[in-house]
Amino acid sequence: MALQKCYTSFSTNPCDHWHLLPLTNDIFHSAGAGSDGIRLTMESALTARDRVGVQDFVLLENFTSEAAFIENLRKRFKENLIYTYIGSVLVSVNPYKELEIYSKQHMERYRGVSFYEVSPHLYAIADNSYRSLRMERKDQCILISGESGAGKTEATKKILQYYAVTCPASQQVETVKDRLLQSNPVLEAFGNAKTLRNDNSSRFGKYMDVQFDYRGAPVGGHILNYLLEKSRVVHQNHGERNFHIFYQLLEGGEEDLLRRLGLEKSPQQYHYLVKGQCARVSSINDKNDWKIVRRALTIISFNDDEVEDLLSIVASVLHLGNVQFAADEQGNAQVTTENQIKYLARLLAVEGSVLRDSLIHKKIIAKGEELISPLNLEQAAYARDALAKAIYGRTFSWLVNKVNKSLAYKEGDFPGWRSTTVLGLLDIYGFEVFQHNSFEQFCINYCNEKLQQLFIELTLKSEQEEYESEGIAWEPVQYFNNKIICDLVEEKFKGIISILDEECLRPGDATDTTFLEKLEETVKNHPHFLTHKLADQKTRKSLGREEFRLLHYAGEVTYSVAGFLDKNNDLLFRNLKETMCNSENPIINQCFDRTELTDKKRPETAATQFKNSLSKLMEILMSKEPSYIRCIKPNDAKQADRFDEVLIRHQVKYLGLMENLRVRRAGFAYRRKYEVFLQRYKSLCPETWPTWDGRPHDGVAVLVKHLGYKPEEYKMGRTKIFIRFPKTLFATEDSLEV
Ligand code: ATP
Ligand code: MG
Repeated sequence: MALQKCYTSFSTNPCDHWHLLPLTNDIFHSAGAGSDGIRLTMESALTARDRVGVQDFVLLENFTSEAAFIENLRKRFKENLIYTYIGSVLVSVNPYKELEIYSKQHMERYRGVSFYEVSPHLYAIADNSYRSLRMERKDQCILISGESGAGKTEATKKILQYYAVTCPASQQVETVKDRLLQSNPVLEAFGNAKTLRNDNSSRFGKYMDVQFDYRGAPVGGHILNYLLEKSRVVHQNHGERNFHIFYQLLEGGEEDLLRRLGLEKSPQQYHYLVKGQCARVSSINDKNDWKIVRRALTIISFNDDEVEDLLSIVASVLHLGNVQFAADEQGNAQVTTENQIKYLARLLAVEGSVLRDSLIHKKIIAKGEELISPLNLEQAAYARDALAKAIYGRTFSWLVNKVNKSLAYKEGDFPGWRSTTVLGLLDIYGFEVFQHNSFEQFCINYCNEKLQQLFIELTLKSEQEEYESEGIAWEPVQYFNNKIICDLVEEKFKGIISILDEECLRPGDATDTTFLEKLEETVKNHPHFLTHKLADQKTRKSLGREEFRLLHYAGEVTYSVAGFLDKNNDLLFRNLKETMCNSENPIINQCFDRTELTDKKRPETAATQFKNSLSKLMEILMSKEPSYIRCIKPNDAKQADRFDEVLIRHQVKYLGLMENLRVRRAGFAYRRKYEVFLQRYKSLCPETWPTWDGRPHDGVAVLVKHLGYKPEEYKMGRTKIFIRFPKTLFATEDSLEV
């Protein structure tokens, strides 16, 4: 800010000032200087401009060129300038190193300051949303997207920290802030894992509401979770781990505790922890993290008994993984690891013999009669793993609920204050394309299609509509509307999820292959759908017979149907459910509800549940004013200072950044109601000052003529003035100060 003032003296033309402003801010940050430091010469600033690029892509001369876009990112990344705007959208590149830009002083610098007065930052987005929330009393949401390892979760945490530091405080508010912050280590312990892409990868989607009272202090919160990757509990790919909590408990748990849980310190002892062959990760300190999680559990109001119940469940999953079977003479599975059953019985507080029996038998109710049949080895292993996944998955949801109770706005704590506004933070999995894509990727990519729809709804379309309703000539920008793909996935009766559900419910011989066949039959002529059979000769080679391909808005993804039915059904044999319903572990007891046993209606399938929860999420987001943070991962090696252009180009494409920029440049950067505009700037023109008696529209017309606006810089709509470039507005702003 000090630098900004320093430039006004160099330039008599305020428009020049705007061009220099982004430079000065960035140099300032890049140099890491204090606020009353450097005085730059004009020449050095101009050289610097080549060096650090522009802070808003809107200012790129060649704004349609992807190469220019990436070059600008690269320049800035090299200078540790990881944030750049596209209008009000923030693009962030993961630096993979600690930068000195998150201190309290930095937070203060962004507090209450206009977007363009300071260098691009997460804090600017956070502060802007917060100010709109307070001034316009409109609920806000910040949508953070990007692929695994791009920095979404870090961004979410930094925004929360920003609010924790900069929002008004009191003793009760401090408790809420603490809980909001401490919910993170707990949910990360249970929901994050080391993957090949990210040592701390979120394996669930998260939407967190922060509630603010009329003074702008956080007084409560609420978390919604989406689709935890439960399969990780029983299987991990090479180089990946199970969820952090298992390793934290083994590494950090006190001897006494481990003895009570029947656990040994070494992860090598547990089948569920050895599949990825990488229990130790250099960037992770499980022992230390255990302490953090243990403390966080206390802060979010877990008492000692609850902690013990929760850890008993974590331990029981490990014991369950070690349950082994052998076949008897008839080929029926028998449990050979009695010791594990003993521990399981104690930890889950169930009858040991009942648990043993339910692991090797299947009970079905047919025509009101109970039929019990023995399981073979494969089926028993399947039942065991299904139980482990169910226990862990439900405990995770229970945990989120428990965190929510602790975060819930308690009116008693804030007598007389009413919580009025909400700011939501969405940290959800980005688009995924792996070598092998399964049901999980299908759901995740569907989720990204929905978010893209929302982006279109909220920004592109509404932008266009506003121009139309204001009677402003608008050259339509071509953009791809991905509704067609959303429909392909979610449409009633003929969408992919409907067909999948139909196959899951069909008694008899439904398999993954029959699902694929039905899919081919129903959606064969869809331009975004392809299979081996439907493809032409050339494309056919790249498609297996057990695969289908979707042409997503972000690119093609080929899915293998293997496991689709099973994962969608997500069934747990009835007798295992019964056993869990009888558990005296209070958490398990709450997780398994007796009504499941008597309810005639089939539970919703995994895909339908996900679809419904996404649809609710869309409703929530639609009712709020959105801000966007688009995160980019610079390389696959998780290394600092490495800018892999191919990888980045791909992300720029599927994050839709070029399209975003095109729309932004085609349109008008700012719009203001005539009344508001006139009120603010009337002092700049003798004819409008001190009062203008005519229509505000006419007053603004006189005012901008006086200010020398060129015709291409603005348009007069029905109720608002539209300004094409930010620089015009800032020049006017600056005139106010002179
Ligand atoms: P996933 O989808 O797998 O959950 P993500 O987008 O949430 O990925 P993060 O966990 O936020 O990714 O970031 C991955 C890692 O990158 C972090 O653990 C951290 O080491 C580094 N990182 C991310 N953002 C920053 C930042 N702003 N400064 C320094 N390091 C960062
Ligand atoms: Mg994450």
